[in-house]
Amino acid sequence: MTPAYIGLGSNLCDPKNQLRKALAALEQLRDTRIERISSLYRSAAVGPGVQPNYLNAVLLLATDLSPIALLDAVQQIELDQGRVRDIRWGARTLDIDLLLYGDLKIDSLRLTVPHPRMQQRNFVLYPLREISDTNLVLPDGSDLDTLLQQCTDVDLIRTEYPLLVN
Ligand code: AMP
Repeated sequence: MTPAYIGLGSNLCDPKNQLRKALAALEQLRDTRIERISSLYRSAAVGPGVQPNYLNAVLLLATDLSPIALLDAVQQIELDQGRVRDIRWGARTLDIDLLLYGDLKIDSLRLTVPHPRMQQRNFVLYPLREISDTNLVLPDGSDLDTLLQQCTDVDLIRTEYPLLVN
C-alpha cells in the first residue's frame, strides 16, 4: 500500500460536522485504510470576499488506489456533501486535496502532486507535521521543518475539537 496524505477543509454548513462526515466516508473507501488523523485547526479563509473561518485537518492514508482513483473518490465525497464548484477559492462545504502520494510527482491535467500550494499553507504544514513521525522530505527535496520556518501564513489555531467521536 502507498502512504498518501490528504487535506480536508470546510467553512460552510457546520464545518465540524462536514469533516466528521467526510471521515466516515473515507473510512468506507475501498482498498484504503486511514492510518493517522491530525487535530482540527481553525484557519482564516484565503479567497475572495469575507468568508467564515475554515476548519482543516490532514489524514494519512494507506491505499492501493491509484492517484487518479483516489482523486475520483475524494471528489465524489465532496459532491456527496453538497460541494458546488463555482467561485474559485470561494466558500465550500468540503474541500479534499491530495497532498502527497508516496514519493510521486504528478503533473497531469487533473492532478498535480505534491499539491501545488501546500508548501505555503500553514493549515496544511502544521497538521502534516503533527502526524508525521519524522521531518518529511517532499519529492522536490524540501523538508517540512524548513517549510514551516519559512511559512508566513498567520491565523492558525489548533482546536480541541475531536474529529473522531466514539
Ligand atoms: P479545488 O477547487 O481546490 O478543490 O480544486 C479542484 C481542482 O483541482 C480539480 O479540478 C482537480 O482536478 C484539481 N487538482 C489538481 N491537483 C489536485 C490535487 N493534488 N488535489 C485535489 N485536486 C487537484
